[in-house]
Amino acid sequence: MIRLAVISGKGGTGKTMITAALAHLQTKSLVLADCDVDAANLELVLRPTLIRTEPFMGMKAAVIDPALCVQCGECTEHCRFAAVDFDSNGYHVNPLRCEGCAICAYVCPATAISMQPRQTGEIRYSATEHGPLVHARLVPGAGNSGLLVHAVKKLAQEENPDRDLFLIDGPPGTGCPLISTISGVDHVLIVTEPSVSGLHDLKRVVAVSRQFHPRIAVAINRFDLDPALSETIKTWCQAGNIPVIGMIPFDAAVIASVRNGVPVTADGSSPAAQAIQILASNLEREWENDTDTRN
Ligand code: SF4
Ligand code: SF4
Repeated sequence: MIRLAVISGKGGTGKTMITAALAHLQTKSLVLADCDVDAANLELVLRPTLIRTEPFMGMKAAVIDPALCVQCGECTEHCRFAAVDFDSNGYHVNPLRCEGCAICAYVCPATAISMQPRQTGEIRYSATEHGPLVHARLVPGAGNSGLLVHAVKKLAQEENPDRDLFLIDGPPGTGCPLISTISGVDHVLIVTEPSVSGLHDLKRVVAVSRQFHPRIAVAINRFDLDPALSETIKTWCQAGNIPVIGMIPFDAAVIASVRNGVPVTADGSSPAAQAIQILASNLEREWENDTDTRN
């Protein structure tokens, strides 16, 4: 199984649009994962049919037993996250602020505090016309999105070991969810755009990706909005031996496809769709080169 994560240094680069189009163009058998769990929207384009859900249990949170609490206030005093409130009902923990450090349970003289599992999200297993899709929802305000990404990837691979390609729509940025996404993948495709911040974020995401040793390739979306800056990005990539395998022009067809909830390649005649077809062919070559290198 080839594992490909489509990622970007920041949001709004067109990463999900490209992931959906690559899924649409695939001739390989496919399993998909939406690892952008804080803003999952691959489903808006691929229109999955939900098959089942399972709860995602994040880190444990403190719970105070009011029957045992002697109202000494030690927990409030020692909580670094201001997660213990006191009101007319006594002391209680705000689960949205609790970081699960268990200090309060340690200092409580009445053993009134226990650490208990809490549901912080939901994992969804769905079917699309391109293959199974594993996606997720995080409870608003809940953390642990890196752990949820890990759970999404694990389920997708465990349930579909015979698929040829594991295609991941990754999160933007370089934080914990990104690290969880690219850990263990063979290839990353970084989608960037010709802007000063786009180049800055590209450099950061390349630096993080290199720690995990995948083959890295770059696609420049809306390259024609600033051809000079696109050339600068290409030059920077060439200097770092990173192939630029996609140059996608600005195209109103992309906006229309997102609005209609279909991959932009569904109508293959638009300039963006044709550019993504070239990108998909170049990706195939990347995979062949990788196989040659390994053999
Ligand atoms: S430390 Fe324990 S006994 Fe003291 S207020 Fe907190 S829960 Fe109650
Ligand atoms: S577990 Fe840590 S963060 Fe949560 S309430 Fe206790 S001291 Fe505060």
